[in-house]
Amino acid sequence: MRENPENSHLIDVYEKNNGYSAARKVFKENNPGDVIEEIKTSNIRGRGGAGFPTGVKWGFLAEDEERYLVINADESEPGTFKDRILLERDPHQLIEGIIVTSFASNISKAFIYIRGEYAKPARRVQDAVEQAYEKGYLGKNIFDSGKDLDVVVHLGAGAYICGEETALLNSLEGRRGEPRLKPPYFPAVKGLYNKPTLVNNVETISSVPWIINNSGKDYAKLGVEGSTGTRIFSLSGHVNNPGNFEIEMGCSFGEVIDNFGNGIKENKSVKAYIPGGASAPWFTGEQLDIKMTIDDVANAGSMLGSGAVVVMDEDTNLVLAAKSIVSFFAHESCGQCTPCREGTGWLYKILSNIVSGRGSTNDLEQLDRIASQIEGHCICALGDAAAMPVRSFLNNFWQEFEYYVDNKESMVK
Ligand code: SF4
Repeated sequence: MRENPENSHLIDVYEKNNGYSAARKVFKENNPGDVIEEIKTSNIRGRGGAGFPTGVKWGFLAEDEERYLVINADESEPGTFKDRILLERDPHQLIEGIIVTSFASNISKAFIYIRGEYAKPARRVQDAVEQAYEKGYLGKNIFDSGKDLDVVVHLGAGAYICGEETALLNSLEGRRGEPRLKPPYFPAVKGLYNKPTLVNNVETISSVPWIINNSGKDYAKLGVEGSTGTRIFSLSGHVNNPGNFEIEMGCSFGEVIDNFGNGIKENKSVKAYIPGGASAPWFTGEQLDIKMTIDDVANAGSMLGSGAVVVMDEDTNLVLAAKSIVSFFAHESCGQCTPCREGTGWLYKILSNIVSGRGSTNDLEQLDRIASQIEGHCICALGDAAAMPVRSFLNNFWQEFEYYVDNKESMVK
């Protein structure tokens, strides 16, 4: 979207590149309803994982004297590293997005919740917030509008589950980072300190200044219907050129792997890939023509999620890869729900048995049974996130799992 010059994290550089013009514009025109309409017109959908339409979400926020905006920068989904770059290289774009969002939603206090491991991005964001205060863009009477806006930067302690919005709010309140029951704790109604709260992802709010400067209509012209605009995909695995790529939505995974990832190392073929972070069901190498849109990926049985594409070549041992992912979720379960707390551990133990040459065909059926008993039976999506990939491994790569079971071959040398 915008050129990313040297020292792009500094306020002077950001302003030289038209920075804070969207914030000035909304205060000058002074019509919060128009801002929400513009976001609705853009049809931008949340970039954190769920893909909910952002303008509609803003419109849901319940009336109250006190309302909050919380930026979810707890980027912990394995394979995802796009928000880190936005926080580190373009923190003022995020702050400007916060100012515009707060103006549209009549909010005077915002929080940026950053995962604990992101020390450098957090320093950059804290410095940027201080620069914005010095300029009068944050604090009292911002842009001489008579409105106030305070921004607090908060570092998490490094738990994956705090990326779940209600667990994040608990953590921000100083409680254990455990997801809340919905209902009644829909953040738009009962969020931070039980007040209506907007929780939005870093990339979503960072897109807001562009939409305001150029119009929602122009944004909607990018991408395809239902998945408008651009999106940053974190491409990793066995590609020649891994990294973050901002791409207009709608091209296929195969095109992105070839054109941005420069193909697969040593010209090998793709055996499997994860289309949207570790919690997304896997696709096979025969499914590379699926379009990178929220709906196309959902129709094919997975999710675009956090935009993390992990590519595995023909030599990848998928049983080991599956075990690695399941071990992550078993470790990160907060333990509130029995199916998730116990089930993820069982999945891990069974996969460990198979990996060490002690598995049986019955284990494969057991994996499927346990995964189906976790899926849809928990408070939050982590249980599903552990179960759905397991079921996709079994559906798509049963023979590979069966091989290790039949041959009692240990992968642990
Ligand atoms: Fe915790 Fe897992 Fe239940 Fe989510 S599904 S609340 S992580 S136990």
